[in-house]
Amino acid sequence: MCNMATNRQERVSRLKRMIILIILVMILLPTFLCVYLVIKMNRLEQEIQKIYQTKIEVIESKKKIVSREPERKSEKVESVKFETVPVKEEPKLALKAEEETDDRKKVYLTFDDGPSCYTEEILDILDQYGVKATFFVVGKEERNIRPLYAEIAARGHTLGMHSYSHRYSEIYESVESFEEDLHKISDLIYEETGESPLYYRFPGGSSNQVSRLDMQEYITCLEKEKITYFDWNVEASDAGGSILSAKQILDNVKKDSNRYDTSIVLLHDTGQKRTTVEALPEIIEYYQDLGVALTSIDQNTELIQHR
Ligand SMILES: [Zn+2]
Repeated sequence: MCNMATNRQERVSRLKRMIILIILVMILLPTFLCVYLVIKMNRLEQEIQKIYQTKIEVIESKKKIVSREPERKSEKVESVKFETVPVKEEPKLALKAEEETDDRKKVYLTFDDGPSCYTEEILDILDQYGVKATFFVVGKEERNIRPLYAEIAARGHTLGMHSYSHRYSEIYESVESFEEDLHKISDLIYEETGESPLYYRFPGGSSNQVSRLDMQEYITCLEKEKITYFDWNVEASDAGGSILSAKQILDNVKKDSNRYDTSIVLLHDTGQKRTTVEALPEIIEYYQDLGVALTSIDQNTELIQHR
């Protein structure tokens, strides 16, 4: 009897050990898997970042080896890197380092998502510093906003398109809906200014992860219409959900400014945030102190494209 009881106890305790072991394995295995996947994901993110960086650097280095005549506006735009030629500008009112201007360095301030209630203020600041910029505008219906399209152009800045609706789900739904939206914003700009826009900035950039279709489909669309698209290589990061201070915006711009001969700076002209306007004088002064020309995008501008 005693032996049987001992055997039973042993069996029970063996069973207990096995159950504990199985539970431990069930807890530990997913934990290890999670840790492994997080590490793997981080590595992949770093690699994507590296590839993205290399792509921009390749575009930069191509500029140095490709030397060709600027193309006519009507010519088909392929993935050609234009030679950067010094652009004749209006006399600058406050260019502190005029004599030290570095001709190799070009900086293009670009404002997306406008016009807005701050556009007038932005235009005044640009005038004050004798700077030309580029506005990638969207379709606005408000009566007080409508005249701003013409005003941007009249004050010597480049008007580019940034879609009519700015609704990613509609624009990137199909090639047809992209084209429809493109014609809508192009027609609006033509109606307001008498000139057809030649430049486009994709909402989210050409490297956006929103579009279900390959972005090349939309790029081909633009090529057919002889429209050139521009992305950016310097980011103010002034478009997210949170409102950055003017100082943070300036610091973001400064971070990447010295890396490229051609910098296309992404800023935003939206009614929700005023800090971009507040940061603008210091951004301009920062570049002018470096002796860098601030101009608007034209057909001689080196292409900065994410893809
Ligand atoms: Zn936008």
